[in-house]
Amino acid sequence: MLGSFAVLVFAGIGQTPPSSLSELGTQYGFEVEVPTSTVSWQGQGYTVKGEPTSQDALEKYTQLFANEWKLYPVSFVKKAKVFKITFCVSLSLNNQFRAAVPSYDADRMFYDTAAGAYNSNYQRNVVHHEYFHMVDQREKRLYTDPEWASLNPPDFKYGSGGAQMRTSGAGSLTDKIPGFLTLYGTSGVEEDKAELFAHMIVDGEFVANRAKLDPVLNKKIGLLKKRLTEFDSSMGDLFWKKIPGWKPVDDKLPILGLAKLNKN
Ligand SMILES: [Zn+2]
Repeated sequence: MLGSFAVLVFAGIGQTPPSSLSELGTQYGFEVEVPTSTVSWQGQGYTVKGEPTSQDALEKYTQLFANEWKLYPVSFVKKAKVFKITFCVSLSLNNQFRAAVPSYDADRMFYDTAAGAYNSNYQRNVVHHEYFHMVDQREKRLYTDPEWASLNPPDFKYGSGGAQMRTSGAGSLTDKIPGFLTLYGTSGVEEDKAELFAHMIVDGEFVANRAKLDPVLNKKIGLLKKRLTEFDSSMGDLFWKKIPGWKPVDDKLPILGLAKLNKN
């Protein structure tokens, strides 16, 4: 009795996702959810809400999403415990609009198919940025990470988190902040790491070029890569070789300090 009721409820809340998305879910071991009515999730101390996506937005987003997600080794995603992904629009976390939300206590992620759809580079970054939060949380150093923070210049202090930084342009790549790729990365240690991971994948050439002249950034790249390999051994050099435009920085070679460069 309970079984058939559950099936009826489940059949009523979802639409059939594009086959490429279902195949991705099967490959990576996550359930794909495409709700047909308002979806809401009450986590521990937070609420996620979303509205049904149009078929058109979903199909466009699926292509972009699958291309990015396929870069990840299956074992990497299994260790991150992403067991369900919900695709919707007007996604919000505690009533603040978000392009994606990692829901740690539900082993689940939410992605907005339409947010920033005019900028595929932005949408690609979002896929990786939010996924990285999941990995970081699984490693239990999302918000508290003295080892990472110690790489910053001694006088640097993070802001009060990503939710507080809604400055326009905060997510744009810059070469004006030593040790950081974006202003958004300075808002919190968790955002710093997620920004670096996402941009290393999407904007590899920019990051590699900046790292040549920025010892702090270079050290962060080294630590991030080391941690990823420890988390899952398939996230070593073979992974980075697949990333278009990524020029590996040899972190074994000493990097010229900026002061030294300026003297020459
Ligand atoms: Zn973030």
